[in-house]
Amino acid sequence: MAGIPPSTWTSDQPIVRVSDVHKSFGTFEVLKGISFDVRKGEVVCIIGPSGSGKSTLIRCINALVPVTSGTIRVAGIEVADPKLDKLALRRTVGMVFQQYNLFPHKTALANVMMAPLHVLGQNRAEVEVRARALLAKVRLAGKEDAYPGELSGGQQQRVAIARSLAMRPDVMLFDEVTAALDPETVKEVLVTIRELAEEGMTCLLVTHEMNFAREVADHVYFTDRGVIVEHGPPATLFSAAQDERTRRFLSQVL
Ligand code: ADP
Ligand code: MG
Repeated sequence: MAGIPPSTWTSDQPIVRVSDVHKSFGTFEVLKGISFDVRKGEVVCIIGPSGSGKSTLIRCINALVPVTSGTIRVAGIEVADPKLDKLALRRTVGMVFQQYNLFPHKTALANVMMAPLHVLGQNRAEVEVRARALLAKVRLAGKEDAYPGELSGGQQQRVAIARSLAMRPDVMLFDEVTAALDPETVKEVLVTIRELAEEGMTCLLVTHEMNFAREVADHVYFTDRGVIVEHGPPATLFSAAQDERTRRFLSQVL
């Protein structure tokens, strides 16, 4: 299935719809029936203890991990369809990981240019103009020619964000992108994500940054052991959690 070109995605339907997703590794069921929607322009945070299945879930959405059952639809693309057009999905969903995985022997600019150039086969001059603009957008103007090893963790993570944006995704997935960073560079990455969100980018984040979730998220899901325990707007979830598991988790991280 080819999916709907990003520019025409104007449906009132949620842009991400996860329906009753189960995932097992062998006999171990990691996701036990997860369902939720993300609407266009929303910022949704997934929180929960380590081992809850958050990374597995976000990887299922990007087809990096196949679901055992259930469906996932992103901007009209059926992610679990065996005939999935992976390129269409790559153009629709951007993903940033805890480990930025930049190519160490390529400059920041070359890293950002790579996918549009080699995956999409776009014109080099145009790709370069856009890559420079994206680096400026993540506040890395002047670092175009730096190699990843010459950049701080926070700067590398912002290159990784620019690299994802170069595919012009409709949805960005972030999996604990600040977890490996020094405290002083966490903020600059969160500022970048906040700016993206303010521009209307649909963002789904797994995060331990509760202040960020509280300030930026439209909706927060608390997961534990493969289920969504409870969810709501951050103002409600953080101050009036109903479930004991949520309250215990929040008391440890807030
Ligand atoms: P979280 O991101 O919430 O910490 P994960 O999705 O990484 O949770 O992992 C959830 C559980 O699934 C963990 O117990 C983990 O060991 C297990 N798991 C994750 N990936 C695999 C895999 N590829 N094979 C086997 N078990 C896995
Ligand atoms: Mg994880």
